[in-house]
Amino acid sequence: MDKLTIRDVALQNKRVLIRVDFNVPLDGNGCITDDTRIRRSLPTIRYVLEHGGKAILMSHLGRPRGKRVPEMSLRPVADRLAELLEREVSLAEDCVGEVVEGRVSAMKGGSVLLLENLRFHREETDNDPGFAGKLASLGDVYVNDAFGTAHRAHASTAGITEHVAVAAAGFLMEKEIEYLGLAVGDPRRPFLAVLGGAKVSGKLEVVQNLLGRVDGLLIGGGMACTFLKARGLEIGESLVEDDLLDVAREAMAEAEKRDIPFLLPVDGVVAERIEAGAPTRVVPVEGIPPGWRMLDIGPETAKVFGGKLAGAGTVIWNGPMGVFEIPDFAAGTEAVARALAEIESATTIVGGGDSVAAVNRLGLVEKLSHVSTGGGASLEFLEGKVLPGIAALDEGLGTTDQGLASTEIEK
Ligand code: AMP
Repeated sequence: MDKLTIRDVALQNKRVLIRVDFNVPLDGNGCITDDTRIRRSLPTIRYVLEHGGKAILMSHLGRPRGKRVPEMSLRPVADRLAELLEREVSLAEDCVGEVVEGRVSAMKGGSVLLLENLRFHREETDNDPGFAGKLASLGDVYVNDAFGTAHRAHASTAGITEHVAVAAAGFLMEKEIEYLGLAVGDPRRPFLAVLGGAKVSGKLEVVQNLLGRVDGLLIGGGMACTFLKARGLEIGESLVEDDLLDVAREAMAEAEKRDIPFLLPVDGVVAERIEAGAPTRVVPVEGIPPGWRMLDIGPETAKVFGGKLAGAGTVIWNGPMGVFEIPDFAAGTEAVARALAEIESATTIVGGGDSVAAVNRLGLVEKLSHVSTGGGASLEFLEGKVLPGIAALDEGLGTTDQGLASTEIEK
């Protein structure tokens, strides 16, 4: 990790402006249905408070597209955060402007202020320099702990760093960079990648990039059907991207040339409709009946994938093996989650909302090395792309003799 971290920065009495990812799912009544993202930000917030800093938190929630949408207020988040921190959390009426500035200047060391939804202002996603400057003026130190939005160059993740004296990574950001960086840079071998989800198109670059790094690729989910069709199989009404058949063939040829196992399902759970309770059958992939669609990997595939994973040194997993939202098609995803949790002494990294939801649901989070909070961001990292939110942070102190915690840093 070659970025400056919060440990390297003096925080006492400082206004510490922290970009967090509080983009939590809400139900129709405005209740938070999963507070994982809030919980994952707690170590950084607590650290700031324990070191006498004033924690000014900023986040987006949903896609209000530049308008003030009351249902997308961060109010429920402020309440939940207050419960988790067991201290008062004030919610500002906005994220910039005189009123907010007044609120910030009235803060004492150890207090917490959450700014209102950044995306109530279009300038946030436009990475508007004026808006970034206004946000920056609220803090002495900027900390980015929002890995989930690090692949977006927005005012609060990228532009802001042009206006602050210190831009450091929070603990969550640090952990994400460390684990994903390990997988990209120096993985313990054999290094396997398991990819699933609906479409090949969203993960093609990942497949191509990973072919140069992994010792095996295991593919399930809807995206496997395009590869199966590219191998000449009849896949009925299964999800397919016909325009990508050639690219799929090229990827498999590349894997063969490099002698990298490219595992596709050998059997599947098929149904005529994507619907709970629809009649299902388990068939070999050579026997998908016309009019039926493959909606999960089958038990034989789960066994083959599980056996392969058992010998891995590092595994990254992104994307469900089937339509796991419907219990009839969730067995494959659950089998992979369990297989990952059971591998001994391997580094196991899970990313992407659906795979993370699956490991959460099964209570396996503790058994994995790292559960990434960023779906899109973790994929882009694995594609080898530079993430603007990370690139914009200050370089770390590295081996220089100034590398002492709580050292005052001037840019
Ligand atoms: P993605 O966002 O590309 O990771 O895709 C996630 C979605 O893929 C989930 O909502 C799954 O229901 C869906 N999915 C997984 N497997 C299949 C499949 N075999 N057919 C259709 N959709 C699938």
